[in-house]
This record gives sequence, C-alpha cells and structure tokens, in this order.
Amino acid sequence: MTDFTKIDTETLTSSRTPASEKLELDEAVGATAFGVNLFTAQPGEQLPWGFHRHPDHEELFLVLEGTVVFETPETEYQVGADEAFFVPKNHRQRAHAVGDKPARVVAIGAPKTDDDTIIEEECSECDDLTRHQPVERTIDGDTVFVLQCTICDSERQIDGF
Ligand SMILES: [Zn+2]
Repeated sequence: MTDFTKIDTETLTSSRTPASEKLELDEAVGATAFGVNLFTAQPGEQLPWGFHRHPDHEELFLVLEGTVVFETPETEYQVGADEAFFVPKNHRQRAHAVGDKPARVVAIGAPKTDDDTIIEEECSECDDLTRHQPVERTIDGDTVFVLQCTICDSERQIDGF
C-alpha cells in the first residue's frame, strides 16, 4: 500500500471562480499541510477575489504561461512566465491576467488550515474600505461573480479590466 498519488490535472473539474479555471490540486491529492491551485485566467479575468488578505497564510504564485498583474495598496507588479510572486501573510493584493493569451498560474498557500480570506475593497456607497463577499448573479444570461459590501449590500463587478 502506498500513499503516493499521481493525478492528471486535465481530468479535474474546475471550481467556480471569476477565473476561467481553478483546479484544486490539494483536494485532488489529499494534501493537508499546504494548498495548491492551478488557475487559468483569460486576459482581463481576476484570479479571485478582489483585494483580499489571508491573516495567517502565505502564498506563492508561479506563472507558467501568460502574464499576471498583482496590485497591492502601494503599487503593482507585472509577473510573467517563469516568474513567481510571494505574498506574505496579511498583505492585501488582487491579481488579473493581462496580455493576449491566457495566464496559467500555480498558487501555493500554507498552512492550509489557516486560509481564512478577508476581501476588502473600496465601497462607493460607504466611501470606505469595507469587507466584501463574493455572490453569484445572472447578468445578460451569464452567471458571474460580483463582490457585495457586507455593510451596505452594494455590489461591484469583479472583472473591470
Ligand atoms: Zn458599502
């Protein structure tokens, strides 16, 4: 009996996110110490979820193909193929794909059990940085995610690039 696990990522079913595809490799192999997701994002699509932070969880994004822009409160970083971007715990960032081809990105986070996500975006109604939550809405026949302010319930688009 072996505990080794080999998987074919092309057989996995995507989770629903603003990005085209999110394959939860950690769930597929039963990893317990760290999280690993494989994202495919079309140009303009966000890798979820708006400006957010993980209070006790570090992340590394390794870009395999395409280009991703990571926005921080102070500046932004353009990260291309074979480059990686590290996000210390409790640091706010959001990311979206740019360019003319899809971005494929491996996102590694740890520890897996402390992956609480706090989404904080500027709310135009509250005129402040407020906590948001993703909700699904049907717009022009398409089911999409929007971010809803948890204080005033106003909603903002996730894809605005
Ligand atoms: Zn609000």
